[in-house]
Amino acid sequence: EAKQKGRNNYKFFTKALNEAVAKRLEIEALLRLAIQNEQFFLVFQPKVRLKDGVVVGVEALVRWQHPESGILLPEQFMGVAEDSNMAIDIGRIVLNMVCQQLKQWGQEDKADVKISINISSLQLMHNGLVEDLKNATARYGVKTSNIEIELDERALLDNERGCIDLLSQFKFLGVESSLDNFGAGTLSLDYIRKFPIKQVKFDKKYADTLNDNVEEKAILNSLLELAKALSYDVVIEGVETQAQLFSILQMPCDYAQGYYFSEPVSAEDLKFNYVIPSMRGNHL
Ligand code: C2E
Ligand code: MG
Ligand code: MG
Repeated sequence: EAKQKGRNNYKFFTKALNEAVAKRLEIEALLRLAIQNEQFFLVFQPKVRLKDGVVVGVEALVRWQHPESGILLPEQFMGVAEDSNMAIDIGRIVLNMVCQQLKQWGQEDKADVKISINISSLQLMHNGLVEDLKNATARYGVKTSNIEIELDERALLDNERGCIDLLSQFKFLGVESSLDNFGAGTLSLDYIRKFPIKQVKFDKKYADTLNDNVEEKAILNSLLELAKALSYDVVIEGVETQAQLFSILQMPCDYAQGYYFSEPVSAEDLKFNYVIPSMRGNHL
């Protein structure tokens, strides 16, 4: 009987696996078409400077306008894109859209706003990224220094030496780098000092802990102090509530991002100035 059951499980597993493979192949085929037809667009989330509420930059986040399924999020397709090398093509499309946007802002009064782009480990290691960046900025006549890149731990660790070289080349072009989602993985601030990184983006998990107890706050506060001491610019991501913001305002932190200020929105819907609420009269 156990054998019978095992066989059934096996059958079930095979069926699920076949379905998963079919689904993957389907996504892959659709992605290929999406790249040909440029079915991607960008939304932007402001990075707000806490001392005065000025939006110093925005993060570009890619979306796929799927003909039947509607708007898809990166987590629904970037995995497949990575496995099939299409992430390189998507990265190029994103870069071009970013430059197009910078060109438009340059013609308005927003020439100082920077756009930061997320770069995956695969994209980073494809040799041609620096060329792509030079080409795209030249094509649209925009300054490389208006572009920033965000890398996660994996991108740093997959090829340390190559990564350091590449980030140095970027830096030479005026493109600053950030470590994305710091705290979600295992790297310490001490360890990342060997990479030419300007900014550390503290993972949403830290903003979330601000709802909890004093010890979590103490940990965040001392990590921020260390980051400051090591001369990093610091962003806290995923700030959703005013209570979280008030906690952060008492800590050594330069910038914040999150739904409290704005979800990722189209370029037209972006706001470039926020009023930072005064903490006076708020007893926390
Ligand atoms: P990420 O770079 O860490 O981006 C932050 C994610 O958190 C975004 O999800 C954003 O919409 C979401 N978020 C921002 N503020 C809040 C908040 O207050 N609360 C909550 N719950 N979420 C918030 P999104 O747009 O789905 O992107 C997910 C990830 O996909 C990004 O994480 C990034 O790693 C990757 N990604 C996005 N665009 C690109 C791209 O153009 N290229 C590459 N290679 N990866 C991208
Ligand atoms: Mg990011
Ligand atoms: Mg992030």
